[in-house]
Amino acid sequence: MLNDEARRAQREQAGLWLSEHWTQNRECPLCGTDAWTVGDIVVVPLVHSPLDGPTYPFFPVFCDSCGHTRLFNALTMGILKGSEDEEEEEEVTIPEPRAGAEASIDAEPPK
Ligand SMILES: [Zn+2]
Repeated sequence: MLNDEARRAQREQAGLWLSEHWTQNRECPLCGTDAWTVGDIVVVPLVHSPLDGPTYPFFPVFCDSCGHTRLFNALTMGILKGSEDEEEEEEVTIPEPRAGAEASIDAEPPK
């Protein structure tokens, strides 16, 4: 399990990745605002797999206005390694829910 500081660092890393890769329209498809917040990694188990089976790790990115959420694969983002890497496997555990544990995306979208 990661401590608060390590989770904050992961959120910041995710925010930087998003600032670099989210090059298209950042307006929320529901409410039209463009302020998003990165949350802590969540893991989603696969249907028809055992409870301790493989999972997908995602960074949730919330619309600050309406709460609409987008999920970004932490493996694709390069922030987590695959489970074949024994040293990184612990990072795929489910973080404890925590209020105020967000990092904002502060880069401006391209004009
Ligand atoms: Zn919204």
